Amino acid sequence: MSKAMGQYEDLERILVTKEEIAEKVQELGERITRDYTGKQPIVVCILKGAVVFFTDLIREIDLPMQIDFMAISSYGSSTKSTGVVKLVKDLDRDVSGRDVLVVEDIVDSGMTLSYIKSELQHRGASSVRIATLLDKPARRRVDLKVEYSCFEIPDAFVVGYGLDYDEKYRNLPDVGILAPRIYTKE
Ligand code: 5GP
Repeated sequence: MSKAMGQYEDLERILVTKEEIAEKVQELGERITRDYTGKQPIVVCILKGAVVFFTDLIREIDLPMQIDFMAISSYGSSTKSTGVVKLVKDLDRDVSGRDVLVVEDIVDSGMTLSYIKSELQHRGASSVRIATLLDKPARRRVDLKVEYSCFEIPDAFVVGYGLDYDEKYRNLPDVGILAPRIYTKE
């Protein structure tokens, strides 16, 4: 058994398989390609959680584009949102007059993306849309429009395909619910 496979023992169950993800990511790439025809978007990856989704998604989008990266402080080693949003790494490029597509791993309360969206609008982006792999609509605390979402999931703490707990599990190919015994040890 590989090292990564050992991490599956910490999951309660697999929620979304790598095959389901690949199918949805391909569909989403096609949709974005159609929606942005004639445009040259800046596609922004929100580090670190979105990196796996981002690298798969951009290869399914058949358009000229630039990519950029932004990092926002989030959960640390806890599984509960603090609601505090801090910009840790900013974009390298100017977004004014540009169509920006923000790629995120998961929308939970919506606070992180709401902050990012208003920041990019404030900088003069001509449009700002959001693409997320996962969405937990039941947990929303702010009104946020999410244009592209692959999977709606229940209110559970998930890891894999880029999502971590205490910086672990990002390399799991599937998304799974972390067994509560792992984080109730905290
Ligand atoms: P929001 O600001 O929408 O509450 O939180 C968004 C961020 O919280 C995500 O980018 C992610 O880092 C983290 N997050 C929310 N739910 C989960 C989850 O179930 N698993 C993991 N690993 N991170 C989560």
